[in-house]
Amino acid sequence: MPFLEKYPIVAQYLPTPSGRRRGYPLVPGGRFVVAHDTGNPNTSAAQNVHYFASTPNPKTVSSAHLFVDDREIIECIPALTGPPEKAWHVLYSVQTDNRLYGFNANDAAIGVEYCYGTTIDADAAYDRYVWLLAYICYRFKLDPAKAIVGHFMLDPHRKTDPATGLAHSRRSYEQLLRDVVDEYRACGGALQAAPAAPSGAVARGGTAVATVRLNLRDGAPSRRAPVVRVVEVGESLPYVAIVDDGEAVNGRSDWCRDAENHFFWRGGVRVE
Ligand SMILES: [Zn+2]
Repeated sequence: MPFLEKYPIVAQYLPTPSGRRRGYPLVPGGRFVVAHDTGNPNTSAAQNVHYFASTPNPKTVSSAHLFVDDREIIECIPALTGPPEKAWHVLYSVQTDNRLYGFNANDAAIGVEYCYGTTIDADAAYDRYVWLLAYICYRFKLDPAKAIVGHFMLDPHRKTDPATGLAHSRRSYEQLLRDVVDEYRACGGALQAAPAAPSGAVARGGTAVATVRLNLRDGAPSRRAPVVRVVEVGESLPYVAIVDDGEAVNGRSDWCRDAENHFFWRGGVRVE
């Protein structure tokens, strides 16, 4: 069944070779998707791409493949409309991408920028953003439940996107992840059957150290469980067990449980 092509994707490539678009092929290929927002409220997709095109060699290079607003989806570095190339959207020094996906985002991820602000129809922009993230998963044969990661998850000390932009649309990052999976299914994408979970707890405790800002959840290894509190990067968390049948977040379904039956996602901590 073909994937429903709801919206056109307009190719409007940056000049190459340039700092923002070196023209390097995306090797080893599209393995995951980094969700960004522009960080610049009230700017449209066209305005952002125009800015990139008119400043092709900035001192600090950054770029992304796609920009989405309430009216259009513009691809300024080939990902879907041409042979995929690299864009520079996550610092190479950030290690979370390597830990989660085995590659640097710039080498193996499609970067998608969400436009937001009072001049942008949030519902229309959000619909396009969700569809585009789902469509990228389809095109690159990625699992939509695992392949999308927010920039702030990769670089929590420096970045808040796309949570900030989504907040302008009255949506959360967690809702985005769920909506992309729903959209993928609704547009005809085939979901992989969940592998039979090797159930049960690993009966061994220890101490975990948070490597990203994460939520401590009450009673269940799931983002639907109530938040007890927010854990900051670097905080130590004693745990009594690791369960491997929790909710999958960015491809990991193992969660740590503490003595008070609170849970935190294993992907957000280093276990010592
Ligand atoms: Zn970003």
